[in-house]
Amino acid sequence: MELLFATANVHKCHEAQIILGPSVSIIMPSSLGFTGEIPETGMTLQENALQKAMFLWEKFRVPCFADDTALEVDVLNGAPGVFSARYAGSDCRPEENVKKLLQDMQSSAVRTARFRCVIALVLHGQPQFFEGTVEGSILEQPRGTGGFGYDSVFVPAGYKKTFAEMCEADKNTISHRKRALEKMASLYT
Ligand code: IMP
Repeated sequence: MELLFATANVHKCHEAQIILGPSVSIIMPSSLGFTGEIPETGMTLQENALQKAMFLWEKFRVPCFADDTALEVDVLNGAPGVFSARYAGSDCRPEENVKKLLQDMQSSAVRTARFRCVIALVLHGQPQFFEGTVEGSILEQPRGTGGFGYDSVFVPAGYKKTFAEMCEADKNTISHRKRALEKMASLYT
């Protein structure tokens, strides 16, 4: 069975393929000739994931799924949350988001946070949702060169390294996306 993933990110696609196993074949919109923007205007992770997955369902009428991720910082009442990608402004670079986050948390001793990922799977036009979280804390200075987004300031609970200091395989055994994908994978395995 083919499953269309609403992403242009080859790494995410590869990760999903490994977790979901050989009984499904993950394909990207580009392999169906679509390279445009997929709309993402919701106010929650669930709305965004559903919007992206339904957009592809309406267009191609094939089984598809989409994910949406937020970093939730307790002392900031859950911000940057659904605005994680554009915390420092629309079209900002990831380093600018990290810089703003550290500034906003400057005077805070409470550093707890989590990544939350929501997946919307649309089969036959009906959505199902899967959620994965990883708890952790935010450092005062970035550490590490791997990963992307907020990885350089996020230390998962029970670990000493940031996500950016871990190898990809180690991060992917505990990540929010992995946990959400695993729940979806239980449908297929
Ligand atoms: P998206 O929903 O995957 O596009 O993620 C939204 C934003 O959350 C991205 O712009 C990243 O900055 C951040 N993000 C998502 N996943 C991760 C991760 O695994 N590590 C660090 N940052 C992430």
